Amino acid sequence: MSNVTKYGVPAAVLLGILAVFIWVQGGDEPGMPELVNARLITLVDEATAETMERPYSDWDASGKRGGKYKNPETGDYTMVVPIDCPQCGAQIPPCPLDEAALAGKTADEILALKAAYKCPKCGKPVGVR
Ligand SMILES: [Zn+2]
Repeated sequence: MSNVTKYGVPAAVLLGILAVFIWVQGGDEPGMPELVNARLITLVDEATAETMERPYSDWDASGKRGGKYKNPETGDYTMVVPIDCPQCGAQIPPCPLDEAALAGKTADEILALKAAYKCPKCGKPVGVR
């Protein structure tokens, strides 16, 4: 009996158990890019507040601009990581305070912008801190 035959099957079983273990853990570990790429990521369009779920690899493939991913339907880079509205629980875009919005604003004006931000789904103030 060769060593390959002798040890090949137990090794395969162990690898299988390891793969299932990593899969159950969620695949966040580095070195498992295929699991990360297959993971479904929900992003929200800051223009329409519509959420969209796609595999990470699909979001990644269309690239990022200014920290935003491309909406495949509109071709615009408007997809951002959603926050949960504390009022209605909907997944909504975070208060849009990017560089353009912050340019030339005082701290008080920025606070006022945050205080004025309302949930696009329920219309209530989100209460961004
Ligand atoms: Zn809401």
